[in-house]
Amino acid sequence: MPNFTREQLQKITTDIFEAGGVPSNEAAIIAELLVASNLAGHDSHGVIRIPQYMGLIASGLIQPGAPLETEHESLSYALYNGNWGFGHVIAQKAMSFAIEKSQLNGISAISIYNCNHIGRIGSYPMMAAEAGMVGITMVNAGGTALYVAPFGGRDGRLATNPIAIATPTRSGQPILLDITSSVVAQGKIRVAVNRGESVPLGWLINSAGEPTSNPQDLMASPPGALLSLGGIAGHKGYALGLMIDILGGALSGAGCSGSGNTRLQNGVLMIVLDIAKFRPLDDFYNHVDGLVAHVKAAPTAPGFDEILIPGEIEARQTEHRLREGIPIDDETWRQIQETAGEVGIPELEF
Ligand code: NAD
Repeated sequence: MPNFTREQLQKITTDIFEAGGVPSNEAAIIAELLVASNLAGHDSHGVIRIPQYMGLIASGLIQPGAPLETEHESLSYALYNGNWGFGHVIAQKAMSFAIEKSQLNGISAISIYNCNHIGRIGSYPMMAAEAGMVGITMVNAGGTALYVAPFGGRDGRLATNPIAIATPTRSGQPILLDITSSVVAQGKIRVAVNRGESVPLGWLINSAGEPTSNPQDLMASPPGALLSLGGIAGHKGYALGLMIDILGGALSGAGCSGSGNTRLQNGVLMIVLDIAKFRPLDDFYNHVDGLVAHVKAAPTAPGFDEILIPGEIEARQTEHRLREGIPIDDETWRQIQETAGEVGIPELEF
């Protein structure tokens, strides 16, 4: 399995996208965000996506350089038309605007349609947290990617509809919740297929509605489905996913699951709260620090060494991979090289 530094992987990614006609400034944003996802340990939203995104560019479904258009807005909200540009670029821009609006008004909300896949959605609320604010992002898939069975159902009717919330802390390391409303992201099934691995029981059902550990069952004909978050309380993950479908897909107009849409996009909602407008940041940090110390002090259950805070695993993994390198599985590396060859880079330099 080849191992790369952040810089090497960013160069490879930038070179491929630039060769595929993506403007340099956009290629740099995409490379930074994909590699950040690998660094955080979320390989499902990292460079494994290069062949998929390049395929979407080739077929005209991603339009590099497309302008982000304001459909209408006030000082505190906006509806943007992404014009089918690169999701990562649109989402990063939109979050910057949400932060600016929140600085003026204490709260902002931005809804986006015609926006390609924005990748790891936690990247965007982290921008707000790094600016001392609370950031929230949720997306649906614009009515496509129906992999998740509704609670009690047997086939996929919803997308994995994730939500991410980030909050700053005094230490400077934000707390980050970044979860799908399904048990796992569909991308993790893709990673398991590429690695030839099975998946834990409880992630998937086959087309007969029976639990399965074979990741291929999700794409079989007829297909199986991912389960909603929550195990025996899967009704809660299902309910969360349904609400995210509405807030991501209906508010933006991107479309909800069941709309019949076939063009993959993220219907996006971003909300930012400027904490300092509500109370002194220092006071907020006192509350958060107290809460973190309180939960971390819990006696551990059998099989656990410590209590973790959301975002902690990713922060540690990032530190580890910055030091030790980012491993890319052989099949993913083969696909990346093949994609590079298709845009005239026979030998990747890094
Ligand atoms: P996951 O199941 O690994 O959950 C990750 C979250 O759980 C993180 O916030 C992490 O810090 C927290 N966590 C993990 N272990 C913990 C522990 N022991 N204690 C406390 N917190 C813990 O991730 P997922 O739900 O499979 O999602 C993976 C990624 O897929 C996310 O980054 C998501 O944004 C992305 N995604 C994107 C789209 C899209 O359309 N753009 C769709 C689906 C998923």
